[in-house]
Amino acid sequence: MDDFLKEYAAVLEATRAHRIQEALPLLRDSDKEEVLTRFHPDYKREAYRAIRFGPNQGDETVHELAALLEGDSPLGTEAIDLSQPAYQVDVLVLGGGGSGATAALKAREGGQSVLLATKLRLGDSNTVMAEGGIQVAVREDDSPVQHFVDAMHGGHYKNDPALLKVMVEDAPFIVNWLDSLGVLFDRDDDGNLKVKKGGGTSRARLLACKDYTGLDLMRVLKDSVLNEESIRVIEFAPAIELLTGADGAVTGAVLRNLDTDQRIVVQAKSVIIATGGIGRLHIQNFPTSNHFGATGDALPLCYRVGARLTYPGTFQYHPTGAIHPEQMAGLLVTEAIRSGGAHLVNRAGQRFINELEARDVVCAAIIRECMEGRGIETPLGRHGVWLDIPVIDTMNGEGVVKRRYPGMVRKYGRHGINIAAEPVLIYPTLHYQNGGVQIGTNGETEIPGLYVAGEASGGVHGTNRLMGNSLLDIIVFGTRAGQAAAERAAGTEHGALTLAHLEQFRAQMKAAGVTPETTSPLLLPNYVRRPSEAVGNAN
Ligand SMILES: Cc1cc2nc3c(=O)[nH]c(=O)nc-3n(C[C@H](O)[C@H](O)[C@H](O)COP(=O)(O)OP(=O)(O)OC[C@H]3O[C@@H](n4cnc5c(N)ncnc54)[C@H](O)[C@@H]3O)c2cc1C
Repeated sequence: MDDFLKEYAAVLEATRAHRIQEALPLLRDSDKEEVLTRFHPDYKREAYRAIRFGPNQGDETVHELAALLEGDSPLGTEAIDLSQPAYQVDVLVLGGGGSGATAALKAREGGQSVLLATKLRLGDSNTVMAEGGIQVAVREDDSPVQHFVDAMHGGHYKNDPALLKVMVEDAPFIVNWLDSLGVLFDRDDDGNLKVKKGGGTSRARLLACKDYTGLDLMRVLKDSVLNEESIRVIEFAPAIELLTGADGAVTGAVLRNLDTDQRIVVQAKSVIIATGGIGRLHIQNFPTSNHFGATGDALPLCYRVGARLTYPGTFQYHPTGAIHPEQMAGLLVTEAIRSGGAHLVNRAGQRFINELEARDVVCAAIIRECMEGRGIETPLGRHGVWLDIPVIDTMNGEGVVKRRYPGMVRKYGRHGINIAAEPVLIYPTLHYQNGGVQIGTNGETEIPGLYVAGEASGGVHGTNRLMGNSLLDIIVFGTRAGQAAAERAAGTEHGALTLAHLEQFRAQMKAAGVTPETTSPLLLPNYVRRPSEAVGNAN
């Protein structure tokens, strides 16, 4: 352990025996409200501004996202030949994470030709990084209704009930499908699925593959896509603009070859956007748990063709992001560790919140501890609190941490930290976009031909997603969007390929007196771009 931590760690160790006996009650709703409004980043008004034009005109969102939504397309005035598309397919899927792979498989099952185009390699995504698990009501003392109630409560009753209903009801079928593809869920000695409890839930319903659930999910989904020869995959080819027909329907997309900068025109009868979340915008300067391609590309792409966003101003800051050592800043420490009994502890050695409160409440409580001087400062000026992981072995016997959380043991082990023996410093990390493109129960948007699935969509989780509900969301709505897109394609002809929506968008921008700050989608954060490609330059 680094020297600067030893003094604080001694305080923490001195209170461990006492803390194990301590039962911290869950907060009353009024107390939750208070800690959220005072400390949660979503309530920091100066971080927000109104969107000045477009379908969400007048709605508030963070400056970073507002700039993207009001940003201009990288397709400037230069001529782009739309008359000779490089590909003509029934269904175009954008995004190679869990929702995109699922949508591609299901669209193909519907008998349609499918092209999956993705920004990086197939599987480079947030899905592959998911650790804790997927929520499914499988136990006798549980039900989809109970799952619905928990998710509604966690989402502050802002969830779209129709979306949530289909998500919890489809869940048992989804787990059967994943099982049939070969996902290796943890099971007990009798072969029954093991369940764990997640924050904000009344029942244990979290299915996991140790602490690398997303890796295993993505492994089988990726294999299934690659084994399906009729699904064509193009990598390193992000979408930079959608194409629309005369009636405003989406009819294809323009991709950019990241190696050659060449534009690739794709004509499709249905387009499914499954491009994931927004963590790499580093909203309010937070570090992030997200992969490098998570730049919220769906939001400006869909906004420009007239699709509405739902809750564009709410984000999930996961309570336990690593802050030390510096190389790990932002990396997720899975919630499964808190579910397993780890304590959150301030510099005085005290627990300050029930660790299984919903994420937003835990996040706000950690920020409160740090702002009120009860945090610990790292040599590089980050503030955080302890996550006492060794207490899990103290309570359950030696070896439990290593057995249950091999992924986390390895991640910290690379930096010489043995989490079974040492506490770690954590602070909230930007993790998830609660809102996104507004969809119906089949992933459809208000724009004909345009479907959205997974983290890019919004509504099902209200303003705060519970642990394990995103992996479920991406498979449920990936499935539904894939099926619906295939069905539409089966009964539709190819539409014209135009950029008419851009003319309208630019006219709205001009009428609102807005000079765009940037081009969008962003594609990659500035710090991984070549210097010649910083934001505002070529995209
Ligand atoms: C570290 C971590 C741990 C998590 N743990 C859990 C958990 O235990 N349980 C849970 O339920 N949820 C968890 N989540 C959340 C969950 O993993 C994600 O919300 C979910 O996997 C998102 O899936 P997706 O398919 O929507 O997006 P992603 O999996 O991120 O896939 C998006 C894909 O789109 C591609 N893309 C992006 N932009 C473009 C573009 N312009 N054109 C083409 N392609 C593009 C990306 O490269 C990527 O391949 C976790 C998230 C993280 C980051």
